[in-house]
Amino acid sequence: MIRGSCCCGTIKFELSSEPNMMGTCHCSQCRKVGASTIVFVNKDSFRWIQGREFISRYESGIYTRCFCQKCGTALGEVESQEDSFPIAANCFDDDPIVRNLFHEFVTSKPVWYEICDDVTQFPEHPVKS
Ligand SMILES: [Zn+2]
Ligand SMILES: [Zn+2]
Repeated sequence: MIRGSCCCGTIKFELSSEPNMMGTCHCSQCRKVGASTIVFVNKDSFRWIQGREFISRYESGIYTRCFCQKCGTALGEVESQEDSFPIAANCFDDDPIVRNLFHEFVTSKPVWYEICDDVTQFPEHPVKS
């Protein structure tokens, strides 16, 4: 099991299998909510342990960004009904096994953030680049 939780421990979940992939988005929205590095998980592998009722939502365009209403930890799209959805890599307690596969929206990257891996960089979203 790969466990994840928020900073205050109110929200807990686990994955029964390794996620599909990890990516890093440098757009200002992901950066400001604190969910730049995300992990795509299969809905079938995701299980709530506790605290789902303490989730707050921020609707930003096409995404619903979830966070803990007590401590503010960004969780990603944990309530998505898609077959695969992104979770903030920050909230994992165990090694999610996958490693960063790409950087997107690199044109929005702040100057103080230095990319230190060799994976593919997309100027904007991969499908548009
Ligand atoms: Zn919390
Ligand atoms: Zn983004």
